[in-house]
Amino acid sequence: MSCLVKFGFGGVQDFIAQARMTRDLAAGSRLIQSLSVQAAGSEIIKSLAQAAANRVQGELILPPPADEKGTPPEAFPHQFVFRFEGNLEGACKAGNDLRKSVLQDVEGKLCAALKNADGQFQKEEGVKEDDPRLKQHLRSALEVYWVAIEETGDYEKDYKLLTRLFDDRRHTRTFEQIQSFSGEPGNETCSQCGVRPRIGHGTITSGKGLFYTKDKLCVVCAAKRAWSGSGIDTVPNTYKLSRWRAYMDPVYKKWNDSKDQFDLPLEEVGNPDLRKDLAKLSPYWALIVFDGDQMGKWFSGEFAPNSADLWSFQVKLAQAMNSFASKVKELCDSNEDEQEKQPVFRVYTGGDDGLILSPFDFALPLAEKIHSAWVDCMAKIHGRKKENTIAPTLSLHISLLHAKEPLQPAVADLHHYLDQAKEKGGRDCYSILANVRAGSPAWMVSGWKQWPIFVEALESLTNYRMSDFSGSFVRIPNSDERTRRNKVALSARLPHAMMEAMERFYQDDDAKTLVSKTALLAEMHRIIGRRSRGGEEHSSAILQFLEPRMDGLPEEGSAKDKPSCSPIRGPEALRSAFEVLAFMARELRWGGEE
Ligand SMILES: [Zn+2]
Repeated sequence: MSCLVKFGFGGVQDFIAQARMTRDLAAGSRLIQSLSVQAAGSEIIKSLAQAAANRVQGELILPPPADEKGTPPEAFPHQFVFRFEGNLEGACKAGNDLRKSVLQDVEGKLCAALKNADGQFQKEEGVKEDDPRLKQHLRSALEVYWVAIEETGDYEKDYKLLTRLFDDRRHTRTFEQIQSFSGEPGNETCSQCGVRPRIGHGTITSGKGLFYTKDKLCVVCAAKRAWSGSGIDTVPNTYKLSRWRAYMDPVYKKWNDSKDQFDLPLEEVGNPDLRKDLAKLSPYWALIVFDGDQMGKWFSGEFAPNSADLWSFQVKLAQAMNSFASKVKELCDSNEDEQEKQPVFRVYTGGDDGLILSPFDFALPLAEKIHSAWVDCMAKIHGRKKENTIAPTLSLHISLLHAKEPLQPAVADLHHYLDQAKEKGGRDCYSILANVRAGSPAWMVSGWKQWPIFVEALESLTNYRMSDFSGSFVRIPNSDERTRRNKVALSARLPHAMMEAMERFYQDDDAKTLVSKTALLAEMHRIIGRRSRGGEEHSSAILQFLEPRMDGLPEEGSAKDKPSCSPIRGPEALRSAFEVLAFMARELRWGGEE
């Protein structure tokens, strides 16, 4: 007799998002990965799945090995399936034991990290190290659950049941009550997660360090931060991410000796001239998040050809996802040369999903490469010959954030935007949020089919060129090149002028019906003609990008799924594009003369 056991982590996104500094993000994600890493002598078992399967003497089914040689998968999934030889009682015991040992790992790792940071983190009076409530908080930092069923011999049927039970289990999860410290010091909640009671605070107010006085943290957030101090201190902070040009633009060469100040908040930069020069740079950076569309349905065989055997189909799919994950890893982590290294930080890649921190300059090239990698890897997967199910698609979201923007809400919102993009943009799409510091945020969705024309439209408005950042070497345009590009650029005011003009072409009803597309196009054309400075050669890109959006989203001709919620109407589709284009054109513009 054999059983199937599905095992997984829950609350992973929240656990990672509970972060004030970029290093918290990295620590949360690395911690989850490290639970999956077991060192046995020199041999490191890379995947949680493998490690877990070894521990319970089961055969790992999903994810399968990366190849025939049995190489462990590159990606770290948050859930996996293994086959247990034995009866249901044994399978349940295995699931339970595994859960216990993973939770003990969490507690042990966090406890040890916090101990090592002694002296930098000041515990509140009355908070005792051996207080059992602290251990309880650490243990409940992550949710871990499992389900098990007996196999019937029909894998497809069993897999579907297993998945349904697992999802039910996740949705009806019972949160362990967090024991409070009420009536004692530290009964206020943590400044980082806002969930658990704070137990202490940092000791420094400025400069570089692990714990600052404003970090009034609970035991989990404190331990996570402490853990980030052990070997992952290369995480760029938001200032470093937003000021990448200072490190490579020759205009900033004169500040070579002050590089260690480039990643400080402006008010902490000592030299007023350096401060002035750094203030000229765009303060924005990018968070990139992505995941495959409807992968659960793909995995349960819903889109598979009728003749397909589910198990072999899953193996193929998992291997395609695995090669995608390793390609993304390569894209972000490669390049040995420190000088040319793109300052991109991969927080995690889990198979079909991932989270990346990037300077603004690299956000578009990276998004394009990630999407191409996906398309390449999924080319081998053949679904039913029906629209939208030919091969799995990917949706990606970019949040452009100010260096001073609080990280936690921005990260917590990422998946909300990605989900909205999928719903309203019809999947197979990208979306961009310009989280303007002084003003309201602008959010744009568009199908990947429109990507090349979007990039062209953007470049027609500025002197930034994506191609400068997409090769193996970064090419900084010199001042002649900047001047030449400025000459052919359309006015940066153009999107605003077009936005003001568009409204009257729509009926003032709920549906926002477009009165006449021909008339709207003619008006847009006229506005471009009036404001272009010899840039007519590019003007068509903007119109080409806008035209399919005029009737709302998803774009005309993109053959997308119908949105499952209220669609994006024409005026909103145009306005969001104008706002995002104007913002990006302005912030990506190269300034400064050599
Ligand atoms: Zn906390």
